[in-house]
Amino acid sequence: METFGQNPCKVRRPCENNDLNRATRASPLPPVTTICRPETGIGFNQTPSPPPISAKIVLMQHIYSTWRSEYIGRDKHNEGCAFCLALKEQDSPENLIFHRGETCFIILNLFPYTSGHLMVVPYTHTNQLSDLPAETLNEMMQLVQKAVRVLEEVYHPQGFNVGLNLGSAAGAGIAAHMHMHVVPRWQGDANFMSVIGQTRVMPEDLGLTYQRLSEAWQADSN
Ligand SMILES: [Zn+2]
Repeated sequence: METFGQNPCKVRRPCENNDLNRATRASPLPPVTTICRPETGIGFNQTPSPPPISAKIVLMQHIYSTWRSEYIGRDKHNEGCAFCLALKEQDSPENLIFHRGETCFIILNLFPYTSGHLMVVPYTHTNQLSDLPAETLNEMMQLVQKAVRVLEEVYHPQGFNVGLNLGSAAGAGIAAHMHMHVVPRWQGDANFMSVIGQTRVMPEDLGLTYQRLSEAWQADSN
């Protein structure tokens, strides 16, 4: 993955009812024209039939674990900024927020690119980097620094993508409320199923990710 440029609005996953304007669905995938087959709710043990390679629009199927259905179904009626909505809820595996700082908080990505994919988000609802004072910017990077350290301890990744998608044209899922992605990476984690098989295997259960990261975060005193 070289960039953070995918436009999530071009992604269609089964059973999501086009409700894609969801912060925790923000994805840092590379820029591709990718449309999933909405009519196929492929089962976990089914083998997808890849579309012709010559197809101009690549049809991508997602193999879903059953636990994901609750996340897909739970927020379809939400409106407004998902980050600001999550902030109004109590922190738990439900709202996916596991740390609140002075100016920023940390939330898991609802559809993680890899296990441990999280986002550092300022409390301020803005799409302008210039709106954020130095205090907020400093804490954002401090939280990114700790997040990388905690993710290294928990998942032992071989690398990270860290970055901002500013504006929908740059691939921001929630363009109105800027946020910084922290994505653990492993060699070959995106080069087989996505590129060749038009299929992505989803990472571990988000509830488990939440538990592992929140515990490791609190245990890290630095
Ligand atoms: Zn917001």
